Parts: sequence; structure tokens; C-alpha cells
Amino acid sequence: ADALDVERIRGDFPILQREFDGTQLVYLDNAATTQTPEPVVETIVDYYRTYNANVHRGIHQLSQEASIAYEDAHDRVAEFIGASGGREEIVFTKNTTESMNLVAYAWGLAELGPGDEVVLTEMEHHASLVTWQQIAKRTGATCKYVPITDEGRLDMDAAAELITDDTKMVSVVHVSNTLGTINPVSELADLAHDHDAHIFVDGAQSVPNRPVDVEAIDADFLAFSGHKMAGPTGIGVLYGKKHLLETMEPYLYGGEMILKVTFDDATWNELPWKYEAGTPPICQGIALAAACDYLDDIGMERIERHEADLAAYAHDRLTEQDDVEVYGPPGDDRGGLVAFNVDGVHAHDLSSILNDSAVAIRAGDHCTQPLHDVLGTAASARASFYVYNTKAEIDKLVAAVDDARQLFA
Ligand code: PMP
Repeated sequence: ADALDVERIRGDFPILQREFDGTQLVYLDNAATTQTPEPVVETIVDYYRTYNANVHRGIHQLSQEASIAYEDAHDRVAEFIGASGGREEIVFTKNTTESMNLVAYAWGLAELGPGDEVVLTEMEHHASLVTWQQIAKRTGATCKYVPITDEGRLDMDAAAELITDDTKMVSVVHVSNTLGTINPVSELADLAHDHDAHIFVDGAQSVPNRPVDVEAIDADFLAFSGHKMAGPTGIGVLYGKKHLLETMEPYLYGGEMILKVTFDDATWNELPWKYEAGTPPICQGIALAAACDYLDDIGMERIERHEADLAAYAHDRLTEQDDVEVYGPPGDDRGGLVAFNVDGVHAHDLSSILNDSAVAIRAGDHCTQPLHDVLGTAASARASFYVYNTKAEIDKLVAAVDDARQLFA
């Protein structure tokens, strides 16, 4: 396919026209949260203007309209990630973090015990690392970590040794939000399945940015967040293979998730509602489906190529400077983000000076403290890209880095 039309796409994001003291915003914090295009904003406005109501239980017309749109949104998301089971395999949560906690509590507390192992990687986000760590402590299971190579890739020989018959769960980030590494998740799924373990894929930085097919990967579970893929906050997704979601216990109890309740006991609703207790994120779910439409209209392959292009360009422009250290794999093999440090300038100071030029980046540990320990630094600066970013914006980033260097040199 041809390249995407960035100028046309930018027209869908009025926020990109904002100016700070006369300087136009350069938004390079997309790995944290992406901006929301007009069709998605309109979906949200249309929902509240015309058919806002609670779902599932209503007989009245508004509730029926809201219910149909909300339930259909699950099918749309299933289609987006290639889940042939449709809505039954798609649970709407608050975010990636909640999707992980759901599985860790519902599956982990029931299935893990002393002697069992959860295999993670050194580049896990705290969302999975802290969650499995705490569930392991409660159950007596052990967490092990696949190390990274000097290039910031997973050491797959080590992975093959760490994943054994004691392994019950392999939880791995698909694209690292710090290194930009694209991990070989289907290879890891094969390793897990060879030992009758499950694999949980953290798709927070992959589903928004490249075509992801859960069945091609053979993921047992996969999680991602709406706010990183042109959708709203307050909506996340847990994909799970139907037979696993069927056998797992619920994570949250309450209304909507039940079938029959007596004073003594209760039975559970059908999938996926069994995992959606209480009033769900109705508008957010519907808006997420609109975000899937928006991204598919552009084309996920195009988006992937556009981001790879920007990442390679940013990587080149930053690595050509002697005092800049860029973390992770080479420029031509990474997701759309670049984390780096400038010698003698703390990442937080850098970010604050960039802010003076209206360049928005992230500074800190990016919820990967143990990984930063491995990298030998407490913090890094991170520029991350999306459909609307341009090379000219990366030039502005590099110019602002020059300004910071002048100030601190
Ligand atoms: N995993 C990865 C790889 C992420 O980048 C993020 C977001 N920083 C998360 C998990 C958590 O996402 P959320 O905050 O939406 O739960």
C-alpha cells in the first residue's frame, strides 16, 4: 500500500494546532496517550446527545440502542485483533493494567501454587511485573525474568531454558514501551505451549501501532488500552481464548455479571458479561469501536510503516550525536518510539526544556524501573510517534535537544 496522507490525517486532530506562546505543539508522547480524532470525538458526543442509557437490562428504546452499540463494539474489537470467537472473547475493562489484574487474580490465584513459575521478561511494564510479582507472593509461585541482550532484545536461548514444565504462565510485552523492541511473541507462545503453559501478551504498544492477529500469535490472553489507539481513556480490552474465559472464575462481583442470585449463592452470566460487573464503560467502548474503524480506514500496515519510518529517522538523528545514548535495537527494527539520554542533562530537565519549545515528550522510568536498573540509568527521555507525526517534528525535537545541550554545557 502507498504511504498514509499525514496532512489529511492531521486535519482530524484539532488539538495538534494548539500553540503555546506562539509555538505550535509537537506531540511526541503517544506511547503514553494518543490524541483523539474528530470521528471518535463525534461518536462520544453523539452517544451523550442522542442515546445515553444504561445497557443490558433496559426494555426502553434508548437502552436498547445503547445496548446494541455497546455489545456490537465487542465484535468490532474482536475483528480488529482477529479473534474469531467475537464478543465472547472480548472483555472491556478500564485499561491494560486492569486486564492484567483480571487474569492474575481470576486465573493466577486459582491456578498457581508453590513450585509453579511465571516467566516474564526484564522489559516488562510494571502493569504485568508488579501484578504477577504480587500474585506469586500470595500463591507461593516464583517469577523468573528473561534477560535482554546488549542490543535490547530478548535472549531467546535463555527464554528456552527458563520456560520449563514448572512454567504455568509466560507474560510478555509485545513491543517494549521503553526499548521499542518488537518481541517474537509467537515463538514465545510456542515455547509456552510446548510446556502446557499459557501466554499473556501485553499489547499496549502493539495493537495501536501494527496489525496484530491474536490467533496468528496463538496468544491465550492479550491486553491493550483504548487511550493509546485514538480512543478515549477509561476503556481497556482483555482478549482471552473462549475456553479459558469460560472456565475462569470472575474477577469482580456484582450486578450484570450474574445469571441467578439467591441468598445462598449465584451463577454467572454468559461471556463476556461474566467479567463486566456493574455499569460498564459504555460510551468508551462504543468510541473504541469507532477508533478501530478510524485506524482500519487508514490501514494498520500503513500505520506500522509510517511509525517505523519515523522511529528509524529519529534513531538516526539522535545516534549521530556523540553525547546521546539511545536505548534498544537498531533504527530499522523497532516500534515507533525512541528512549534516550543526553550526557550531562537529566531526562526531566531535558523534557522541561523541550516543553519550552512546545515539544511534548516523556521523562522518567516509563513504568519500567527494573529495566532502567539493567540499562544503568534511573530515567530516560522518550519520544513516541503516531499516525499524525512527521519528520519535521522530529527535526524540532532534535533542535530542542540542541538548545538543552547549550543550556547545560
Ligand atoms: N504495558 C505497556 C507496555 C504500556 O506501555 C502501558 C502504558 N504505559 C501499560 C502496559 C499500561 O497501560 P494502562 O496505563 O493503560 O493500563
